[in-house]
Amino acid sequence: MIVKRKIIYIAGYSRSGSTILDILLGSHTKIFGTGELFYLFEDWLNGTRTCTCGAVYKDCSFWKDLKLPQGLSLQGAREIVQHVENRKYITALTNGKIAPDIIQKYTLIQTALYDYIFTTSGKDIVVDSSKTSRDMAGRFYALHQYTGFDVYVIHLVKNGLSVVESYVEKGRNWALEGYGKNDRFAAARSSVGWFLGNAIAQRLGAKMPANRYIQIKYEDLVAQPESVLQKIGAFVDTDLSEVIAMIQNGLPFRPKHNVGGNRLRLEKEIRFKKSYNSKKIGLSVYHRLIFKIIAGKLYKKLGY
Ligand SMILES: [Zn+2]
Repeated sequence: MIVKRKIIYIAGYSRSGSTILDILLGSHTKIFGTGELFYLFEDWLNGTRTCTCGAVYKDCSFWKDLKLPQGLSLQGAREIVQHVENRKYITALTNGKIAPDIIQKYTLIQTALYDYIFTTSGKDIVVDSSKTSRDMAGRFYALHQYTGFDVYVIHLVKNGLSVVESYVEKGRNWALEGYGKNDRFAAARSSVGWFLGNAIAQRLGAKMPANRYIQIKYEDLVAQPESVLQKIGAFVDTDLSEVIAMIQNGLPFRPKHNVGGNRLRLEKEIRFKKSYNSKKIGLSVYHRLIFKIIAGKLYKKLGY
């Protein structure tokens, strides 16, 4: 029997818990988690950013033998991918208006990349949690349209108010470090980011085949990991009970070779803590208002 290679794409906005979901799924014997795979070429070129194993990419035991299609450099490949996946080309992408030579190269690059991951890991399913920010807004749709892999999209949504709260807090910390007072700006910018990331994931999700897109709330994942993982397992037609057992037994989860080791500042191991009581959101009335004006309608539509 030929097993068709599957990609689980975690879509949505930053700070929505995608790293945790990536690591949970990646602990399954048939699944390999790659983290924010979009950043692989950029981080490799940077030369100092590391994989979660701690090595730079050219020295990482997993990534070091990756070969790009003939005649393409990392920089060239990165530019082609940007020309297809960046938010500013979304309309061209969904209307099939991107130049054929770019699409042809895009298909070669992504096929080589994912084939390498499938072959090197020996797994049937690869998780890519690049999400849906500006740089890779069209990524899951383009992978579905222009590669031969079966793409399954998990649109992970986290309560926008708590996402904005974390950006406002970060803004305050920057202010303390002398970068100026910018919490109003942080609230507006993260509200717009949350709105766009989720609106685009939903819009492109509607263009996927019906059984290839689901929405999962981060709050449900942490409150009822068993039932949410069962739902995801049914969605990708894979029994995830071994992951559920790891959570129930309090076993640690260890990321292997995820992209974005520096950005994520990952611990060596993660213990998944179930939490029934969602944390109280300490956002001010003023910041809530900014969020509601920008994203209130979508917030309701997503069930908050
Ligand atoms: Zn590594």
